[in-house]
Amino acid sequence: MLDERHQRLPQPDICGHNVVIVRPPMAGNCFAATVVAQMRRTYPRLRFGLLVGIGGGVPTKTDEGLIHLGHVVVSQPVGQHSGAVQYDHGEAEADKFVRTGFLAPPPHVLLNAALEAQVNRLGMPTDPLIAHPNSIDVTKPRLRQYRRPEADQDQLYEPGYVHLDRELSCTDCGCDTTKRINRDANDDDWVVIHRGTIASGEAVMRDGLQRDALAQEQKILCFEMEAAGVLNDFPSLVVRGISDYSDSHKNDKWHGYAAAVAAAYTRELFYHMPVEEVKQCKIAEKGDAMLTWK
Ligand SMILES: [Zn+2]
Repeated sequence: MLDERHQRLPQPDICGHNVVIVRPPMAGNCFAATVVAQMRRTYPRLRFGLLVGIGGGVPTKTDEGLIHLGHVVVSQPVGQHSGAVQYDHGEAEADKFVRTGFLAPPPHVLLNAALEAQVNRLGMPTDPLIAHPNSIDVTKPRLRQYRRPEADQDQLYEPGYVHLDRELSCTDCGCDTTKRINRDANDDDWVVIHRGTIASGEAVMRDGLQRDALAQEQKILCFEMEAAGVLNDFPSLVVRGISDYSDSHKNDKWHGYAAAVAAAYTRELFYHMPVEEVKQCKIAEKGDAMLTWK
């Protein structure tokens, strides 16, 4: 999503901001934590992070409507919740599991940018978040993965209906199409941005019933695997393109497009982040993110 790609490190800038982009070698909290630790050693004056990638959606309804594949979920504090929760972290008490893993909230400058971007988009005739992924030349073999899948590839099954063989697609596995849930059509002219609580854990969420139980308990919109490794130490906004429904039918058809849409959304945020305001943000120090939230 950058306009220019530089060979070395001459501080690439977006809208006057100096930006460092780093990609962990694999998914997971440990890799994410290691990468952030290394990044801070190399760039000791980092102010905050944007955690951008894909996530598994919860097929629920927000103020913006139903969550569909190819939509974006952005972390935002809701009531007592900070915007991100480590769902597999907590204490077992007598007859219940008490979750204590609320992670640090996003910095104000990023929350403000997200709000302003949202208001700004309302008045636009076409969606810039569609235009950027569409500008990727998907005729090139290595970029083909970023093509938007057809709308009929957005399939949601009943939460308790289990996909039997992970190696096979739903069609090859013989998943019963009558177990699919009919929903409003996924609009391919406008990327819907949902804001709320994102859940982070060590393992891939691939269980529709567990997904719904946790989601109901914590008002979770999306599951992912990196935020818990980062948000203890480094104040960040989490941006996730929805690539599956966190159930056993999950596959990688939407991965590329969902990642591109999340990156396009993040790019837009820089247009709503005044450089002077960012300069006034505190330099992030190890451990200080958690002090701001309990
Ligand atoms: Zn299936």
